Amino acid sequence: MSFVYKQRLPEVGAILEQLPLSPALAAAKAVRDRAIADIFTGKSDKFLLIIGPCSADNEDAVCEYVARLAKLQHKVKDRLVLLPRIYTNKPRTTGVGYKGMAHQPDPNDEPNIVEGLLAIRRMHLRALAESGLGAADEMLYPFNYPYLADVLNYVAIGARSVENQEHRLTVSGLDVPSGMKNPTSGDLTVMLNSVKAGQAPHVFSYNGWEVETTGNPLTHAILRGAVTPFGHMVPNYHYENIIHLRELYRKSGLVNPSVMVDVSHANSNKLFAEQPRVAIEVMNSMTFAPELKGFVRGLMIESYLVEGNQDPSESVYGKSITDACLGWDASDALVQKIAEMC
Ligand code: PEP
Ligand code: MN
Repeated sequence: MSFVYKQRLPEVGAILEQLPLSPALAAAKAVRDRAIADIFTGKSDKFLLIIGPCSADNEDAVCEYVARLAKLQHKVKDRLVLLPRIYTNKPRTTGVGYKGMAHQPDPNDEPNIVEGLLAIRRMHLRALAESGLGAADEMLYPFNYPYLADVLNYVAIGARSVENQEHRLTVSGLDVPSGMKNPTSGDLTVMLNSVKAGQAPHVFSYNGWEVETTGNPLTHAILRGAVTPFGHMVPNYHYENIIHLRELYRKSGLVNPSVMVDVSHANSNKLFAEQPRVAIEVMNSMTFAPELKGFVRGLMIESYLVEGNQDPSESVYGKSITDACLGWDASDALVQKIAEMC
């Protein structure tokens, strides 16, 4: 092996001791856990919006964003649950580029994963303390999950990881709703197989242990659009796509049939300003066919303080350094519009 072993990662216990979750925050998280789980089991008819920047690259900007979201949550609390998207690990199409705060606590400095693990936990704890909203993150590296397990209310498995056995089996042991994205090819069989794997019990090796899981009944699908072999983006948020997925679910025997629609990525042709149009179309489909209301459980939106994106070497506060995001004002208006439509 030509690896250079740079530094040993701290034990989970050591990081949790250094940055503990207080009993008050644990209680706040539990309240949000219940509200979100109830959406996926159908106990609650509220609609979930997972909303925030593509990558949580700056603690101050993320916390300012989340504080604004907390005010907005108050306004729409009868209809919507707003869950901040605080994504600290970024999958990259070619593997190169900014890989998230877990790798690079400072996007313009060298990677430092020991510092990164501390930085992401500090940011999640602060965001929870200042907003009480909780968070969703992507589980890009299953072995890292224990560093954040006590602060996350929702876990997504990305389009590039969804066919991976390690991700699927790890999801089977999580006790929060976990969304399996369709792969970039758009293959719905891969996505539903992943939901099946996440819902089933397994025995497997995890972080140096043989572990046993009971299966995660809150594992569900996320539609994020696809890319053809010729490089064209093909959306999968239309009425016909959702009806088709519902039919596949019906034949599958999976529990808690549910889908989240990611209105960004290939569903918006990577054009951030298209997200409101896509979101409104999904809401209209549910108005047209009310039976979809118990199936489409929510939307994912990429949004930050400032619209668009920038190169990591630029330093506009609150502007994405990965995928382009909707700016705050447009996001605020969209959330209120969605609330009116549900
Ligand atoms: C993302 O959520 O920013 C992302 C990379 O999503 P996907 O896995 O769908 O490409
Ligand atoms: Mn993104």
